[in-house]
Amino acid sequence: MEQVVNKSLLSFMCEESDNAIAVYNPVNEKIIGYVPSLSSADIYERIAKSKAAQVLWQQKTAAERSAVLKRWYDLMIENADDLAYIMTVEQGKPLAEAKGEVTYGAGFVQWFAEEGKRTYGDTIPTPAGNKRLMTIKQPVGVTASITPWNFPIAMLTRKAAPALAAGCSCLVKPANQTPLSAYAVAELAYQAGLPEDLLIVINSHSSVMVGEIFCNHEDIKKLSFTGSTEVGRALIKQTADTVKRTSMELGGNAPFIVFDDADVEAAVTGAVASKFRNAGQTCVCANRFYVQDDIYDSFVDKFVAAVSKLTIGNGLEPGIVVGPVIDQKAKGSVMKMVSTAIEQGATIRFGGESLPGNFVQPTVLTGVTKQMSIVQQEIFGPVAPIIRFKDEQDLIEQANDTIYGLASYFYTQNINRAFRIAEQLEYGMVGLNEGIISTEVAPFGGVKQSGFGREGAKQGIEEYMNTKYICLGGM
Ligand code: NAP
Repeated sequence: MEQVVNKSLLSFMCEESDNAIAVYNPVNEKIIGYVPSLSSADIYERIAKSKAAQVLWQQKTAAERSAVLKRWYDLMIENADDLAYIMTVEQGKPLAEAKGEVTYGAGFVQWFAEEGKRTYGDTIPTPAGNKRLMTIKQPVGVTASITPWNFPIAMLTRKAAPALAAGCSCLVKPANQTPLSAYAVAELAYQAGLPEDLLIVINSHSSVMVGEIFCNHEDIKKLSFTGSTEVGRALIKQTADTVKRTSMELGGNAPFIVFDDADVEAAVTGAVASKFRNAGQTCVCANRFYVQDDIYDSFVDKFVAAVSKLTIGNGLEPGIVVGPVIDQKAKGSVMKMVSTAIEQGATIRFGGESLPGNFVQPTVLTGVTKQMSIVQQEIFGPVAPIIRFKDEQDLIEQANDTIYGLASYFYTQNINRAFRIAEQLEYGMVGLNEGIISTEVAPFGGVKQSGFGREGAKQGIEEYMNTKYICLGGM
């Protein structure tokens, strides 16, 4: 961590002990630092502090809260190089990509600094002459968030920024594999003038224990989770006893469809960007490719040529495009999916080799069919299975045949087909002739078992507000 210029970003790190969580560099599995592991008593104490701070914060005007968020945004941009470095070292994504995430993550802070000023209520035409009806929006109160390791900054700000803008407080549990970025970003929030009890970062050796406290505590009024569908299901069950508001940003299985009237060059560019970003470890990564018969050979040849040029290695080195996967378990899971696909009849068209350490060679599989298990699983690695299709209606059925419904992509130059397919895809998000769709100004979220709730955009702040109806009688 010597390269980090602003040492205050590392001030939360602690010494090795039984109460410390080790953080590893996925490139070489070396320990890069420690963060505190909190006990249940520590967490209860922090929830109480968060509650007290929230009461004061909600009394501020939206403009006052906005001013703090804007300073936080400025500090994130000023410290973007340091934040990107920390992220690359703990998460593995190449430096340029990490810097892109810092900008994307800061974008949520800037966006919600403005949206917090626009949380309008309504006046409602009255059905009775002696009454007047209105609504106001109020913060839900103390909120808790649990975030994954694949976007250590953006997943935090996508939740904390709207919560704080709305007048809520926020307890955040980042993944134990990538807590350093979360703490560094929180430190900048404090330097921007945010009282520390309004944004509290929590890690523990037992994430299960943290989840149980978040779900069962009466004072926590909202839980926002981003992670796997499996853990999301468990958390939904756990929140039942306190009837807690939740939003769930869960796993995906994005189809990437190339019709025979597509611009093939554009489709290849979009496919590479969508599949290999973050070494294939994003919830919106293209997970299975459907390519129409007439264009199949041309697309596959060009795609393989592009994939063969991807440089793989330590993301701190210049020119690296694909970093390691997060750990050995992730690598084992991806390699197993590839070997199972081969056993089931797929062909390795490119890659497929297990490289030393946590690296997986970018891989293209052809001859994939809808019966193969790789088509139903979230791969979360740099592997692209390609399926040939003929008929549009059969394609739609295959594309929708999954429990997931997060992102989807298709390429066509036909305007009628564009609308027809966009409307039929059972997904929360559709990229038409575009492989990168995430932005703070558009609503991000899924349907089916990819979850519910929306983050970013004008919808994002609604997740942290209650609508109160006020009826004025005797008018
Ligand atoms: P994960 O295993 O579900 O973990 C996500 C977070 O939940 C981590 O902080 C983890 O903590 C914590 N956690 C795990 N088990 C828990 C429990 N029983 N109670 C409370 N917290 C618990 O997912 P992941 O492997 O980190 O992330 C990959 C998944 O996230 C993929 O499925 C991906 O699609 C999804 N994702 C979705 C979106 C979206 O917006 N829809 C965005 C990004 C990622 P520890 O790891 O510290 O134990």
